[in-house]
Amino acid sequence: MLERAWGRLAGVADLLLREIAHLVTFDADDRELQGVDLRISGGRIAEIGRLHPKADEEVLDASGMLVLPGMVNAHQHLYQVGLRCIAELERVTLEPWLSGLGRLCMQWWREGHFTPESVAALARAGMVESLLCGVTTIADQHYFFPGGVTAPYIEATIEAATEVGIRLHAGRGTMTMGLSEGGMAPDETCQTIDEVVRHSLELISEYHDPDPLARTRIHLAPCGPHVDRPELYAVFAELAAEHPGVGLHTHLYEQIDTEFCRRRYGMTPWQFIGEAGWHRDATWLAHMVDAPHAEVADYAAAGVGLVHLIAPDLRMGFGLASVREWLEAGCTVGFGTTGSASNDGCNQLGDLRVAALAHRLGSADPDRWLSVRELLAMATRGSARCIGRSALGILEPGAAADLAAWDITSVDRVGVHDPVAGLLMTGLSDRAQLVTVAGEVVVRDGHCVSADEETVAADARAALPPPA
Ligand SMILES: [Zn+2]
Repeated sequence: MLERAWGRLAGVADLLLREIAHLVTFDADDRELQGVDLRISGGRIAEIGRLHPKADEEVLDASGMLVLPGMVNAHQHLYQVGLRCIAELERVTLEPWLSGLGRLCMQWWREGHFTPESVAALARAGMVESLLCGVTTIADQHYFFPGGVTAPYIEATIEAATEVGIRLHAGRGTMTMGLSEGGMAPDETCQTIDEVVRHSLELISEYHDPDPLARTRIHLAPCGPHVDRPELYAVFAELAAEHPGVGLHTHLYEQIDTEFCRRRYGMTPWQFIGEAGWHRDATWLAHMVDAPHAEVADYAAAGVGLVHLIAPDLRMGFGLASVREWLEAGCTVGFGTTGSASNDGCNQLGDLRVAALAHRLGSADPDRWLSVRELLAMATRGSARCIGRSALGILEPGAAADLAAWDITSVDRVGVHDPVAGLLMTGLSDRAQLVTVAGEVVVRDGHCVSADEETVAADARAALPPPA
């Protein structure tokens, strides 16, 4: 399957985008350019400027387009695409949400529905939805292994990403500390550390690519201190140190773990992961909504990435993360959606709009509100830095040819003075017109062309039964 998909990519042609109306580079100088051309060759950005078409390259008119680097979703659980808008979980807090979700997934597994094939079908739908809103890289975390069995869910997700043409950081998620041992995970979803390490090494050996332009990487991703043993965090830190490009990722300060760490370990979640050797770059932490202000300087000094997830933070009633304080302290800040069970979608662009509005409630001082450009920078360059990918999330010669372009001549953008602000603050046009990943056109004229949208949707609908 992988070889077939890679064969498709071997035929990717060079591409010239001409007369780009507005180009946002997110390079070191945050340059924005008007009326420029951009050449893609060999999967990279080759040139930006006034360029002449060459023979054998495709030329696209971009005179009505706003072009940005492809976004990086730094925290996702793709299998949860099958778990959207469940009526009894619509208005619940985190603990009943977690247990309700676990019960449902276990039921599906016992009935034979939770299989690698169904996970792949759901993941494909999430990937296509992501591409259509301008996401070109997903950092996924699959931590649900019902019965404690290592079925090839992650392997199937990686194959799905290669078919669909999106970059994937596949996180080997875990739950290793069940209720009977004082943790908060159902015992029947927990695995031993030995098994988790065995499978992680297998995934690294089979799929991890340390190349700066890699399509697939593996990271090590315990679900959280409330469901994972401290020894696991320590072993994962050692494994990551031994394998270049293998990152460390976990939920932290998702409220539930704060009191858990204080009670069980007498420390904060940040101190907990520090004991295990996680205060380092290429560690990125999801949520951080409950993090104490006194620690923020330490996050910056350690070089960890912080991923802001506005949709689940609001949906669960957590509140607003202190993103302005993180930025002021010099932290690396990225953006993500999390899984569809606590977001109900994969629309990172839509979530950025929510964040742009919601953070105005956090301060009476408009200078402290998050600007559209700050948010877009977080969702591109910032997320790329979180996951250790400096060649992604920016548009400059040598960077990966991952970009997204939106039509700024559509009816909902009439009257927009600033096209960059218009991308987030106007309403109808979340679908990108054009998206490339490694130079391959995966979205053209607002439709996915690397996979058939209708087939992907039908396969995903058939993958899991509707909730009873
Ligand atoms: Zn999550």
